Amino acid sequence: MNYNKKSIEDIDVAGKRVLCRCDFNVPTKNGVITSDKRIVAALPTIQYLIAHKAKVILCSHMGKPKGEWKPELSLKVVAARLSELLGQEVIMAADVAGEDAKAKAAALQEGQVMLLENTRYIKGETKNDPELSKQLASLADIFVNDAFGTAHRAHSSTAGVADYLPAVCGYLVQKEVSIMGKALANPERPFVAILGGAKVSDKLNVINNLLEKVDTLIIGGGMAYTFLAAKGYSVGTSLLDSEKIDYCKEMMAKAEAKGVKLLLPIDTVVAASFPDPIDGDIAVETVPSDAIPADKMGLDIGEKTRALFAEAAKNAKTVVWNGPMGVFENPTLAKGTIAVAQALADSSATTIVGGGDSAAACEQLGFADKITHISTGGGASLEFLEGLELPGIACLQDK
Ligand code: ADP
Ligand code: MG
Repeated sequence: MNYNKKSIEDIDVAGKRVLCRCDFNVPTKNGVITSDKRIVAALPTIQYLIAHKAKVILCSHMGKPKGEWKPELSLKVVAARLSELLGQEVIMAADVAGEDAKAKAAALQEGQVMLLENTRYIKGETKNDPELSKQLASLADIFVNDAFGTAHRAHSSTAGVADYLPAVCGYLVQKEVSIMGKALANPERPFVAILGGAKVSDKLNVINNLLEKVDTLIIGGGMAYTFLAAKGYSVGTSLLDSEKIDYCKEMMAKAEAKGVKLLLPIDTVVAASFPDPIDGDIAVETVPSDAIPADKMGLDIGEKTRALFAEAAKNAKTVVWNGPMGVFENPTLAKGTIAVAQALADSSATTIVGGGDSAAACEQLGFADKITHISTGGGASLEFLEGLELPGIACLQDK
């Protein structure tokens, strides 16, 4: 995949209708936005377009309405917040690419901003339906993708629309692609990847691709137990994907054949059950990873493992990290995640963190400003790191 994509600065936007795909998938509670981080992050691109006299048409999905017009997933709350942040009106369309959106887009003046309704109100969106892509394209002269979090999806508003319009990236996507692209195209070595978290099945598949690229692969968090089981260890009641045990055996053999160092936990913090509530008091003990009692659940990496992983991270020149090392939401079980975050923060390597929870962990634990790049996309950053082609990026014009 070519990582050198044209951006909004490489195309003349003055007087043009610019359809900009943003990530306004913000969390809400009772109709109130609980974090406007994603809206704030989109401002530089929007402000550039306004300053350069574009007629700005924004769009995004929110939640998973699956083609149903769910009022609680309306982007009206986003229009209101965005309008406050921009200090100017944000015209809200009553539909996605229907009559109201068309009329409002046609009436748009230079420097004005409008927002379409939730793209996933239309069934065709997630099917990349050419009809919807055409309708969206008919609103505008140029397409800008500034939503990295959905760039791994071939949807009408993320990729399909680019079949009918010249397409470039906004600042957010540009930053993601240039930093991660540079780190991956020709990584400074040693190149270390650290995987953890709970989406075991999803992430296990990433390992096959990563083994082609890295010098060391570190596995912690909920991912680790399927590997420990593949080594023949009992993992008690820990998170386990029993259908992937053979796959993990293959991966261990592949790592060995390729000379990739594969590091697994050597000790494990266990408890009688998953913490409930998640941040509640919990009694834990640390056991060797090959001696997890049958009635115990592994919930964090132990002290020896923390030192082992931190050492490997410290000696790296490029580190990518996706997935917490334990149930970091609980202070007693956050120590493994903190140790890895600390190692990345202390390292002079290029450090890249992807994954919603990993990014949240870095921020909550106060390490965010010591990481080279925290990706805004969980699934997208993983696919990017795997070297897969992301439809929302592949569709953009090369420089
Ligand atoms: P990300 O969002 O960074 O991609 P995931 O969503 O895959 O990460 O996983 C994050 C979740 O993994 C966290 O909520 C954390 O509590 C959980 N987790 C980490 N280690 C374990 C474990 N050993 N057992 C169960 N859950 C775990
Ligand atoms: Mg997550």
